[in-house]
Amino acid sequence: MRKFLRQYGLLVWLSLILIAGFIGVLLVGYLISRDALQQGIAEQSLPITGDNIYSEIQKDILRPVFVSSQMAQDTFVRDWLIDGEQDTALIIKYLKEIKTKNNAISSFLVSDLTRQYYHADGALKTISESAVRDQWFFRVRKLKTPYETNVDLDMANRDNMTIFINYRILDYSGKFIGVTGIGLTLDTMKRQIDSYQSRFHRNIYFVDSKGNIVLAGSAVKRLGNNILNGTGISGIAPQILANKKNDSLHLAYDTENDRVLVNSRFIPELGWHLLVEQELGNELKPLHDMLAIDAAISAGIILLVLTMVLLSVRRYQKRIEKTAATDQLTSLMNRHAFDFVFANALLDSERSRQPLCIALIDIDFFKKVNDKHGHLVGDHVLKEIAMIAKRSLRESDVICRWGGEEFLILLKNCTLEKATSIAENLRNTIANNDFSRTTDLAKKRLAITVSMGVAECKTNETEDSVFDRADVALYQAKENGRNSVYFSE
Ligand code: GH3
Ligand code: MG
Ligand code: MG
Repeated sequence: MRKFLRQYGLLVWLSLILIAGFIGVLLVGYLISRDALQQGIAEQSLPITGDNIYSEIQKDILRPVFVSSQMAQDTFVRDWLIDGEQDTALIIKYLKEIKTKNNAISSFLVSDLTRQYYHADGALKTISESAVRDQWFFRVRKLKTPYETNVDLDMANRDNMTIFINYRILDYSGKFIGVTGIGLTLDTMKRQIDSYQSRFHRNIYFVDSKGNIVLAGSAVKRLGNNILNGTGISGIAPQILANKKNDSLHLAYDTENDRVLVNSRFIPELGWHLLVEQELGNELKPLHDMLAIDAAISAGIILLVLTMVLLSVRRYQKRIEKTAATDQLTSLMNRHAFDFVFANALLDSERSRQPLCIALIDIDFFKKVNDKHGHLVGDHVLKEIAMIAKRSLRESDVICRWGGEEFLILLKNCTLEKATSIAENLRNTIANNDFSRTTDLAKKRLAITVSMGVAECKTNETEDSVFDRADVALYQAKENGRNSVYFSE
């Protein structure tokens, strides 16, 4: 682990920095987009939907109010009442006409004098102050405003939510003489709600002053429920119900698996609160998809960068290792690297029981070459001997620069006899080579000879001991006139 860190520490740090950087950038971007999206929904989309629905309501309410006011001011209606409600057929005909012309679900007239209730279907009934369902009349009778709107909360029939306009009829001196009006379905508003729900996945519904859901689009099935008991929304329900002003509230609540933004406004005409809700989950999906794509691209970039860095580090390391193991002048393996190679070869040969030999080479009278021709020529001789040796050896043989003008050859799978013969060949090639530099103008043949000591590694013999024996053989070669190969038995 420590070795890994030493070798790839840079890579680890780079990965951490890149990953942290990308995560930071992605996260900040995501959070900013999410907040902007939420803010857009809360402060623009939902209030606009609320405004549109509200204006539809006003349109829906305005028409029946207008029709009812026409009825209440109609001189025929007023005269008919003042004249003692003589011909019932006439007023029924009138109410029927109003009903069909306006596509209303009912039209009615109640006389204050006789308490008779007339409507388009013709049936007559008398209203009574003691009947609960007739209370609306006595309420309107005392009304200070010319009319009231009354919404029929018929739960069984929610697709045909109806609104009644109860308009006060006054005689020519301003005295209250009855109530007239029509009942209409809130069609347009209902259609609008459904369209918003399907187009924008917004829940739109109304709650009364007690928090009961009284009107909702087709998709919402909470009709009759109370928001004060609803999951999540119960926390903000009191705030919604307390708002009796006409401006809208931006609120939010959490359900089990989503966050819901709510826009609420009070509708004074109905005494209801209009709620427009949007679940954030759906809206955030494109943002999540984008985040996933960005993350994948970032991961790809990180991987690419790391691979490139890893490859360059490896290449650089290999170059350094090679440089450290190579002798600069001759490009041969140096002694340090050779030690390692030799130890391995020794193990191999013991395992495979194959003979392993070494040959130590020392240039004869090299000092003189330096003295006579200069160090540069000396270097040239070293390089050329290295080249000759490399050329004349097998692929599996290893040659290294052992010291100043000494070389060492490792001959794998090679008997002492064979090694001596290879050494002899090499000695001969060197002795016959002209070492004078081709660039020299006064070109004169330069002959160089080498002495060599060969030794075969014995079983369980140490490296030092083999070297010593090769050294002794080399010493013998020097002693006995040089330019020769000696071997150690
Ligand atoms: P001998 O036949 O007994 O080996 O005689 P020698 O002159 O070769 O003696 P020795 O091996 O002691 O001499 C080694 C000389 O090699 C000494 C040194 O100046 C020279 N030498 C060692 N390394 C280099 C080198 O890198 N370049 C050059 N030009 N000369 C070197
Ligand atoms: Mg020497
Ligand atoms: Mg020498």
